[in-house]
Amino acid sequence: MFLSARRITPKHLSYIFVAALMLPVVILALSEHTPFWVSVACVVMPLGGYTLFASLARRSGVMVWIGLPLIFFSAFQVVLLYLFGNSVIAADMFLNILTTNPTEAGELLGNIYPALVAVVVIYIPLLWVAFVHIRKRRLMRHRLRVKMAAAGATTFLAGCLVLVLSGRYDVGRIVRDELFPANATYNLGVAISEARKIKHFNESSANFRFRASHTATPKCREIYVLVIGEASRAASWQLFGYERATNPLLSRRDDLYLFDNITTQSNATHKSVPLLLSSVHTSQHDELYRRKGIPALFNEAGFTTYFISNQQPQGAMIDLLACDAHHIIYMDSPHLDMQLVGAMRHAIKEDASQKILFILHTYGSHYSYRHRYPREFARFVPDNEVSVRRRNAEMIRNAYDNSILYTDFVLNEIISSLDSLEGTSTAMIYCADHGEDLFDEGKRRFLHSSPKVTYHQLHIASLAWFSPTYRELFSEKVEAAALNKSVPATTYAVFHTLADMASITSPYIEPRSSLVNTYYDFGAVRYYLNGHNRAVKLNEEIGIDQEERVTFAHYGIKL
Ligand SMILES: [Zn+2]
Repeated sequence: MFLSARRITPKHLSYIFVAALMLPVVILALSEHTPFWVSVACVVMPLGGYTLFASLARRSGVMVWIGLPLIFFSAFQVVLLYLFGNSVIAADMFLNILTTNPTEAGELLGNIYPALVAVVVIYIPLLWVAFVHIRKRRLMRHRLRVKMAAAGATTFLAGCLVLVLSGRYDVGRIVRDELFPANATYNLGVAISEARKIKHFNESSANFRFRASHTATPKCREIYVLVIGEASRAASWQLFGYERATNPLLSRRDDLYLFDNITTQSNATHKSVPLLLSSVHTSQHDELYRRKGIPALFNEAGFTTYFISNQQPQGAMIDLLACDAHHIIYMDSPHLDMQLVGAMRHAIKEDASQKILFILHTYGSHYSYRHRYPREFARFVPDNEVSVRRRNAEMIRNAYDNSILYTDFVLNEIISSLDSLEGTSTAMIYCADHGEDLFDEGKRRFLHSSPKVTYHQLHIASLAWFSPTYRELFSEKVEAAALNKSVPATTYAVFHTLADMASITSPYIEPRSSLVNTYYDFGAVRYYLNGHNRAVKLNEEIGIDQEERVTFAHYGIKL
């Protein structure tokens, strides 16, 4: 410890406690671009509240330990501010903690150590000093406590007054969304509510049936493949205009059908993948817990279904929707996506079923990128394992681009495998779950899953491929895919497209939302599931600032 715990008085301990809690509050006030007087209120209210809180017990060490949840919020918030550059802890972040696996977490934490060191240096000594004070029964003087309580209460009320006088009428929303730690606490509540719904999914969806039928049954074998990409943004694909040769193999093909105008419904894996697997619209989030997903749909239509995943089961919605598949295979280390292709090839050879669905859940471009591809794909160098800092952006980008290069190889291998099955009616659709920020244009934005959305987190890579036999049998669907190359869409289209590709009908399938249908009709609005699981119209989403809107426009994505 830098200072002897005994030399710190109870008064100083309280001040240090309040200062440590105020650290994220001050950073948020600088990073959030909220109106000036709202920012002032969002600093003054916590300052008063924390001061009042610190004065509640004579033993200030006790209040520090009672305030452990506040310390946790503050430390977590500081780490996320380091990672994302802004934004309060979202409900998705709490759920990400529950749904990530130790290897993933280790890869990320190992590379954001400056932030971890900072929170350890700030908060652990505080807890230690408080512990020593409790043991030594050190007390704050009564008069000081009263003074602190009065100052805290006055400051808090002054903050409330500033907020009310700021001229904003949505005070409740400001408290819920802008005032730390009230907003983080609210988001924790949202996360707990979601976790409960996930826990009860098996009961809430038990009686659900798609009432599906397979309307076109060709005499040949049928195989459909859904490849779920991971953190694969369109802007880093050569096929979608990136200047680097990240798709050397797919670029040579003349039988691909690109979908170049798709945005994701959510920038967090644990939300976006279930939405890809489900028929529910972005605006029907609660319905997600009552309906089954793609495996159940194809089961009803008489298919043998495979869910082969390179990501670990997390007990979250992805696994709950996947568990209806007849065959569920989770890959072991090293989690390279070619393992999925090997498992699929093996199943095609060994399984005599006439109708098969494969869902391949890749690891794609999930951080840490350098671990996602074998060394022979390290074409963009240096791609060293480096800490997450803006100054390392070039190496981080190189590694990310190499992971796209590997995805190019994996998709080409999947297509080649399917193409070699002569006389089989086969179609594949690839769609990434969300994109990724890579310190683009020098901004402090990295990764995905941040509450404030960016172009790069939303615009994802997607494409389809059809075998010669499929093209012969379903030429109108293939032609529709070509026509729909640049129509606006969200990942909502994927479920309906895959079902339509396989000629499956159900009251829950919308042909007008299928990208292989000439009647495709997007409507007028791009929806997005925000941090509170409410569908927001992207063109009105206040989290997208003007600079980001320019980036969307630059890449041809109309909000
Ligand atoms: Zn993801």
